[in-house]
Amino acid sequence: HPEEVPELPEGVAERLREGGVDDLYPPQAAAVEAGVTRGESLVASVPTASGKTLIAELAMLSSVARGGTALYIVPLRALASEKKSEFERWEELGFDVGVSTGNYDADGEWLAARDIVVATSEKVDSLVRNGAAWIDDLTCVVADEVHLVDDAGRGPTLEVTLGKLRTLNPGLQVVALSATVDNADVIAEWLDAELVDAEWRPIDLKTGVHYGNAVTFDDGSQREVPVSSGGRPTAALVDDALAGDGDASESADTDGSDAPTHDPADDQGSSLVFVNSRRNAEASAKRLREVTDTHLTRDERGQLADLAAAIRDVSDTETSDTLADCVAEGAAFHHAGLAPEHRSLVEEAFRDRLVKCVSATPTLAAGVNTPSRRVIVRDWRRYDGEYGGMKPLDVLEVHQMMGRAGRPGLDPYGEAVLLAKNAETRDELFERYVWADPEPVRSKLAAEPALRTHVLATVASGFARTREGLLEFLDRTLYATQTDESGRLEAVTDDVLAYLDRNGFLDRDDGSLSATSVGHTVSRLYLDPMTAAEIIDGLEWADANRAEAVRALGGGNGDASSDADRAAAETDPAATNGTPAAGFQRASELASTGDAPAPTPGGDADDPDDAPATPSADAPTYPTALGLFHLVSRTPDMYQLYLKSGDRERFTDLCYERESELLGRTPSEYEDVRFEEWLSALKTATLLEDWVGEVDEDRITERYGVGPGDIRGKVDTAEWLLGAAERLAGELDLSPIPVREAKKRVEYGVRDDLLELAGVRGVGRKRARRLFEAGIETRADLRDADKSVVLRALRGRRKTAAKILENVGRQDPSMEGVATASGAGPNST
Ligand code: ADP
Repeated sequence: HPEEVPELPEGVAERLREGGVDDLYPPQAAAVEAGVTRGESLVASVPTASGKTLIAELAMLSSVARGGTALYIVPLRALASEKKSEFERWEELGFDVGVSTGNYDADGEWLAARDIVVATSEKVDSLVRNGAAWIDDLTCVVADEVHLVDDAGRGPTLEVTLGKLRTLNPGLQVVALSATVDNADVIAEWLDAELVDAEWRPIDLKTGVHYGNAVTFDDGSQREVPVSSGGRPTAALVDDALAGDGDASESADTDGSDAPTHDPADDQGSSLVFVNSRRNAEASAKRLREVTDTHLTRDERGQLADLAAAIRDVSDTETSDTLADCVAEGAAFHHAGLAPEHRSLVEEAFRDRLVKCVSATPTLAAGVNTPSRRVIVRDWRRYDGEYGGMKPLDVLEVHQMMGRAGRPGLDPYGEAVLLAKNAETRDELFERYVWADPEPVRSKLAAEPALRTHVLATVASGFARTREGLLEFLDRTLYATQTDESGRLEAVTDDVLAYLDRNGFLDRDDGSLSATSVGHTVSRLYLDPMTAAEIIDGLEWADANRAEAVRALGGGNGDASSDADRAAAETDPAATNGTPAAGFQRASELASTGDAPAPTPGGDADDPDDAPATPSADAPTYPTALGLFHLVSRTPDMYQLYLKSGDRERFTDLCYERESELLGRTPSEYEDVRFEEWLSALKTATLLEDWVGEVDEDRITERYGVGPGDIRGKVDTAEWLLGAAERLAGELDLSPIPVREAKKRVEYGVRDDLLELAGVRGVGRKRARRLFEAGIETRADLRDADKSVVLRALRGRRKTAAKILENVGRQDPSMEGVATASGAGPNST
């Protein structure tokens, strides 16, 4: 029992009991036995949904009770806020919880006062690079989903970060939570930790394969789930779960009057359907809503209609509409292209059993706690370019999806079902997934991009000052624990050192290593050194080719004054609304000092309204926004858009048409790979250009075949990289480049004439344009404008209008009694 654990602070056991935890689950008890509440390091390799989080909480709470500080590392940003809200229940016992997301270039000093901090591994890495002092005082670190060290993209960051934290803090307790993997013992050896390796689950899980008219489970049992001719097995399985355990009297009637009134939880079961692409997730939800619709009570229908309205409110895109339409009938989809608000609305409604079926891509399996009566793994293969076709998913991944089946306290057991079209596939699926053990976790640190980034950071933040010291540090990684190829790590490391030296990020002197000033900046900005090298090349190109390019663009000279003047009208959003957003400095100031200091919260002191707006002659802006977008889009830190059929021609034409704007020499068409990448970057850059050209989000999603969440992703990345470009330009003493303006335009998604208005909190790109068209062009205009004009431009939304006027500092922002339509009296609504 929790109250029998002496190291737990007062009140924790009671609090747990209130939350439904009377007894520790066996793996939790084993963790306590192994000393997790006494500061011992531990690797817990336990099935999905078997209470790993509580193991971490026991460790963190007891560590904090001894006067320490705990850090919980999550693999995804979306999980950071979820975990923080989960831990906030400890605040009433006096534990402060903080979450660190946001920019990668601050030291997060305010977090020093927290007892428990939640952050992604990238964020922690960046905090270490920026020398956050409080990191040195940590006593307990939790790594959630530690099996992801196997991930080629992000794994190395987690691996190296854990290594640095342990170096900084030799007595540090490390608690690593993992899905069940084959070699948890190797992870434990790497971390000098105790091991709890359990198969135990709080609720039975039956796994099986559907073929023909029945599911065969691993325990030999069968369940009839007939598929009507022409019907689909997924629909049949979802319907069967909702119909409950054979109690036909509950069959629902949908025409209103005698809709079922029973508590649906008694017998109805929700389903989670895993598919392999976003498009498939949406298509699947559209089909399955016809099934879920027949199982709704009248009450649920009403609640779902409200939820659908809330979804439409988030954004008016096609995805949003489709999602709302599906949700109104009890089905939903979930994938990484959804807006975060959409994602959490869907997750919550599914947990509340309002939404009956979610069709999801595997991102949902990777952490978010959404248990379901039945899990259907519809697609067990996914397209893989490197593999050259449809590649079977890893066992680990399929097991994690399956592990989402079964809601403790609600279901007698969970069921996870794979689908087979023929007997042969059925047998294959049993072999491959039902009986199989997950693969072992393997470090990906030796991959070059990862090593390039981490070697620079390790040297820049002083973890290694010599080649030998560096190798010694790397020797304590999981990679070193696992590899039997001696010499390989050393050879790759030497290649990487040579690269960093060649690009001016490192100095190598007789075996001693130090970062150059630019190298330090690159590390703190959290850039892949190759990204930094590309940006520096592009900026130097712009500097050297300015005069010629400006002539080609149709201007007289290479003067950048027009940019400076235009940007002088720019406003700092932070100055008026108090958000700690990036600050602002006039481009004209940059022009005079040739310096681009770090943005500071609070912004500049001048009132931009008083700035003389003197648009100068029509010298074209150089580099153009497109040129800068292309530059940041061709770096390895930007996830580029693929070229689809027809794109190659289209973007080749565009490339030649706008060649003078691009900051670098276009590769020859014979350099196949490089040329293709150049065009993909151009495609990404035109998406950004559309965004700052105020093209509708819907139009953009159509034009580029992406989801609204992808636009957001590109925009955020571009903002970060343009900010980095600005810092690098300052560092290198190049002549002024209008990077800041491009960055602001990306941030707001507007043309330059809206930069000021769109910076007002609550306004955004669409409303800013409507206000502008109504003659309100500046903050000052907004403060003085006729309220009915404002209200009309905001389509009669009184609350919104009042909020906006308040944000811009208007004395009396109330919209009560203001008329919306011209000619109507003041009391009309
Ligand atoms: P994991 O992190 O292993 O995927 P979670 O920690 O999210 O799983 O736990 C799944 C659910 O089980 C949570 O809702 C949690 O509150 C509940 N839970 C955890 N431990 C216990 C316990 N000892 N008794 C009852 N419920 C528990």
